[in-house]
Amino acid sequence: MSPELEELYQEVILDHSRRPRNFGDLADAAVLVHGDNPACGDEIHLGVRFGEGGNVQDIKFTGRGCAISQASASLMTTKLKGKSPAEAMEMFRVFHDLVTGETDDAPRMLGDLRLMQGVRKFPQRVKCAMLAWRAIEQALQQSAGESTISTETDFVAP
Ligand code: ZN
Repeated sequence: MSPELEELYQEVILDHSRRPRNFGDLADAAVLVHGDNPACGDEIHLGVRFGEGGNVQDIKFTGRGCAISQASASLMTTKLKGKSPAEAMEMFRVFHDLVTGETDDAPRMLGDLRLMQGVRKFPQRVKCAMLAWRAIEQALQQSAGESTISTETDFVAP
């Protein structure tokens, strides 16, 4: 395995892909977003329940696909619980900038998500890493109901 691949598939990422956290159906979800990454064959089904002020009260996902897509979703759910919509969108933004290489400065708020930085060396994998984040972006925009997103289409705000 090349040093780049070793960095990409670090232990934490493999652990999250094998034993994803917050995995399952969220029975009383306010929003359900189905995310699809046809480039790799990844899919994510993200359920979110909002609390006071629109805070992310609970978040769960199911799905299947490559280790990067599932680990990114798992890590994301552990980080977003209790976050306000503004905090969640800020995390979306800094995570996006990190995996696309727009910044080398990985904020502490990302925690273990910083390990996904290696993805930037593999452009095809950026979509895998961003899939769950595209789903939460959509969930925050609509705050109720069900929808579908794809990494192959740019999200257009309603
Ligand atoms: Zn993938």
